[in-house]
Amino acid sequence: MSQILDGKRIRDEILAGLAPRIAALPRKPGLVVVLVGDNPASQVYVGSKVKTCLELGMHSEKITPPAGISTEALLDLIATLNARAEIDGILVQMPLPKHIDSEKVLDAIAPEKDVDGFHPVNVGNLSIGRPGPRPCTPSGVMELLKRYGIETAGKHAVVVGRSDIVGKPMAMLLLHANATVTICHSRTKDLEAECRRADILVGAIGRPAMLTKAHMKPGAVMIDVGINELKDRAQVVAIFGEDSEKTKAFDKRGSVLVGDMHPYDAAELSSYWTPVPGGVGPLTIAQLMANTVESAERRQR
Ligand code: NDP
Repeated sequence: MSQILDGKRIRDEILAGLAPRIAALPRKPGLVVVLVGDNPASQVYVGSKVKTCLELGMHSEKITPPAGISTEALLDLIATLNARAEIDGILVQMPLPKHIDSEKVLDAIAPEKDVDGFHPVNVGNLSIGRPGPRPCTPSGVMELLKRYGIETAGKHAVVVGRSDIVGKPMAMLLLHANATVTICHSRTKDLEAECRRADILVGAIGRPAMLTKAHMKPGAVMIDVGINELKDRAQVVAIFGEDSEKTKAFDKRGSVLVGDMHPYDAAELSSYWTPVPGGVGPLTIAQLMANTVESAERRQR
């Protein structure tokens, strides 16, 4: 019988664990989120980050430069934030407008305030197992596995996706947790066979329900990081069938969220699996809060 991994419950547990640590600090942890322009999806993400900060009693600021801001002006802003003692975390919401040099901007964030864990120094720290902020989504997955008591040591983990924000750090964290790790990507030959070797299968691809029964070993743990919004009914019906729950949900709302794994196949074959929504998604913000609190603790020690 397959068990759902409940990301909302684990998010609440993580946040509850942070409350006493925040209360014990001489100064509130401070997070600044920089949102350039008016991308609607980014506005939603930033809004919920700021809201969670406030609920936890943390200091939070949202800075919203206009879409036309230059790279130089953004670098000046980051320099100011780096210098402010009461700010423990700086997050620049991606994607930035095309004319801005995103790499330069991310590199300008002081590594000890880089709560996303994307700075090359922190990528290096992760690689060699030194302390430092870890990227929030993959570290959320590790918390989920840990809190459900799912063993990683000696297991074969297959991560599909090799992005710098999810796939690669996910693989690295699993490796540090003593899994034997395979990373797959768009040039992998025989993806199905690679995936069927997985005791723990992680999908971080960005393609709706791409991983199906053919990719799943019965009894494996299935972690679906993908978040894909389907707005085309024909696509929903093609994947799930006319009489499915997903199609009914689409008919009510006009869109549905779908992960990278076929949820009916994952529910049927897995030992544990993460639904979309409600699986991995809620953990990202929780880990961002955890990274900010950790930074505040380190900087106030
Ligand atoms: P990217 O587009 O940066 O990376 C996708 C990866 O998938 C690439 O490595 C790519 O391979 C691989 N890929 C694409 N097509 C195939 C294929 N046909 N077969 C095998 N591999 C393939 O995406 P992200 O890593 O940023 O995000 C992945 C998913 O996770 C998205 O759905 C995103 O929305 C979601 N996400 C969810 C978060 C959460 O909070 N739960 C947070 C961040 C992301 P290649 O390198 O060869 O191109």
